[in-house]
Amino acid sequence: MSSIYEKYHLKQVINASGRMTILGVSTPSADVVDTVKYGLNHYFEMKDLVDKTGAWIASLLGAENALVVSCASAGIAQSVAAVIVKDNAWLLENLHAAPLTVPHDIVLPKGHNVNFGAPVGTMVALGGGRLVEAGYANECSAEQLSAAITPQTAAILYIKSHHCVQKSHLSVEQAAVVARKHNVPLIVDAAAEEDLQRYYQCGADLVIYSGAKAIEGPTSGLVVGKQQYVEWVKRQSSGIGRAMKVGKEGILGLTQAIENYLTQEKESGAQMVEKMTPFIDNLNTLNGVNARVVWDAAGRDIARAEIHFDEAAIGQTTGELVQALKNGAVAIYFRGYKANEGIVEADVRSVTPEQLNTIYLSIKALLTGEKQA
Ligand SMILES: *Cc1c(COP(=O)(O)O)cnc(C)c1O
Repeated sequence: MSSIYEKYHLKQVINASGRMTILGVSTPSADVVDTVKYGLNHYFEMKDLVDKTGAWIASLLGAENALVVSCASAGIAQSVAAVIVKDNAWLLENLHAAPLTVPHDIVLPKGHNVNFGAPVGTMVALGGGRLVEAGYANECSAEQLSAAITPQTAAILYIKSHHCVQKSHLSVEQAAVVARKHNVPLIVDAAAEEDLQRYYQCGADLVIYSGAKAIEGPTSGLVVGKQQYVEWVKRQSSGIGRAMKVGKEGILGLTQAIENYLTQEKESGAQMVEKMTPFIDNLNTLNGVNARVVWDAAGRDIARAEIHFDEAAIGQTTGELVQALKNGAVAIYFRGYKANEGIVEADVRSVTPEQLNTIYLSIKALLTGEKQA
């Protein structure tokens, strides 16, 4: 439907940056799109839809309970509200009306207090929580996490993400042990993670995923957890959750996407290497450019093309080149967070071989000054 691009004067995008919110995250498969459409075209008893899709997802994941929410950020805010409000009917409707007297401290390792596109702390505050940092910017042990817990603690929040400090920080398993010892729940934000079972199995009470990232569903989020905690999260639909309502189309679309994710074979790292090899070979013919295959730093089966620019040879900074590629007729986005070191990475999962060739030609044109065909 290129007319949408024309109608609103939008730029076409080649997304070599991975699952990025600023580019629309992912493009769900045809049967997920069909399921979304089916959802849009029918009525349901919504409580029934929420409960039964949640039970279906929970059974697929071997968990007690699950719930589709509007996004992972909403999952964090509603999970925080859930562990504070629990069954309290007055608080459900008056979370922000008066200073809280029930426990509402949310303890997280200091190195997990990140900005994932919006600050973690903003979601905690939306849920009525007060953020309490444990440990230091560069370390948080089980003992340091323990030391931050008081009778005012409502939950431990653990952010499992490449955004966080990894060095000298405790594992999810260790955080679960601390939570059990102090009898407080553990909430894990695993928004962009690929394993939908591991953190629950590690002992987390609530685990949150982003629906459109690894799972490639529609814009949505998933909360998986223990029976009582998920029920408390559901109750928030009559509280703060109403401002983050998920529709029937999102609920059904994500449920289908999860089933696909668990049963369908994913593109393997070896297949990614095969797809990117002609691209890398082409780039290596350009003066001042050095490209190679690198593997995901977090150990996932993802291969990416690392492109190194010799800035003296190409006569411009990598940052300028990255910007020029975004500004071209078709906007090309890389993973650019090492641009200051002269390095960008291309994530080829959402890129076709033809688009890889377009990227190569665009880089070539920018470096040689010749017009692109
Ligand atoms: C992407 C992300 C989020 C937010 O997910 P949304 O579904 O976009 O709200 C939260 N936490 C982490 C670690 C993320 O990577």
